[in-house]
Amino acid sequence: MLRVYRVDPINPSPEAIRIASDYIKRGDLVAFPTETVYGLGADTFNANACLKVFKAKGRPPDNPLIVHVSSIDELGKVAIDIPDIVWQIVNRAWPGPLTLILPRSPDVPKEATGGRNTVAVRSPAHPVALMLIKYSGTPIAAPSANKSGRPSPTLAEHIIEDYKNDNIDMILLDAGSTFFGVESTIVDVTRNPPVLLRPGPFTLEELRSLFGMDIVVPEFARGLGEADAALAPGMKYRHYAPRTRLLIVECGDYDMLVKTIHDTTVDYLNKGMRVALLITKETAELLSTRYTEISELPIILLGYRGNPYTIATNLFDSLRNLDRVNVDIGIAEGIEERGIGLAIMNRLRKASGFSIIKC
Ligand code: AMP
Ligand code: MG
Repeated sequence: MLRVYRVDPINPSPEAIRIASDYIKRGDLVAFPTETVYGLGADTFNANACLKVFKAKGRPPDNPLIVHVSSIDELGKVAIDIPDIVWQIVNRAWPGPLTLILPRSPDVPKEATGGRNTVAVRSPAHPVALMLIKYSGTPIAAPSANKSGRPSPTLAEHIIEDYKNDNIDMILLDAGSTFFGVESTIVDVTRNPPVLLRPGPFTLEELRSLFGMDIVVPEFARGLGEADAALAPGMKYRHYAPRTRLLIVECGDYDMLVKTIHDTTVDYLNKGMRVALLITKETAELLSTRYTEISELPIILLGYRGNPYTIATNLFDSLRNLDRVNVDIGIAEGIEERGIGLAIMNRLRKASGFSIIKC
């Protein structure tokens, strides 16, 4: 049974967290909020509990989990051979949305790391997540709580939607919307220079200044091309995907972008297809004044182009909403790959299965 407890995101009630931590201690699953997205967590040191995460999500067994620690001191329990620079970095960046790949401690079962000798670790900056880890007395291994392939959950409702028909014993701590809305930044620090495996709320610009050196950004980290499975397991598959077909329009020039979204929409409408637009408030306003004929279409607002953090927060909910408006195709607006924009474009491109129109 899926049991849901509402908790205050800033001052969570200790009773609910205690009940949830009992689930973790006895090897069961807890879905919990972090500052990025909701995670589906298990006791890191319990191989069977970790396997339950894979089973519940329908996750391929070679796609490793992220180990969540409640403090920097716990890092040494799950990773080994930690260089000084990594200690300095976690001192400055944790708790926060930065996951580091490090050599795995033999205490961490291979089930948690998809059979790998490296482990992904971070300390989440969310009061509920931190309290849950502390009460459980163990680091919590957790991927995003969505069913494998679906958009990551940023609201408790998304988890209920994905698991409501399952016969599964699990607790969901509902603390409302997560703060950033996209998953953590992942950096492989076993390589020199470090490699960005997944862009996230901890931006590339911030990483470069934090590390004081260049960070390698492979094409797949931008959401273009397939990941090298050896380097970034689980990132080569279609991810975050709505069931409805999705197309992204990307242009350097904003006027051109608005025009191309319009022209592409008209092309599909002329083919007799039903179209929804996933666009920012600014673009919705421009389109409705310039092109009255498409102002009747379903519009899913992504947020403000002038404040991409609002887009990150809404992104996965918007992708799920696309499946609710009952159309044949969604046409989404691309944004600049700066700051959190890189993380947004990585998710959008993957969600579209790389269907991109450039202009
Ligand atoms: P999720 O939080 O659902 O995105 O899942 C965690 C992601 O972290 C996985 O998809 C992996 O790509 C990445 N990850 C976890 N452990 C490792 C590792 N040892 N090496 C590289 N990537 C990892
Ligand atoms: Mg995931």
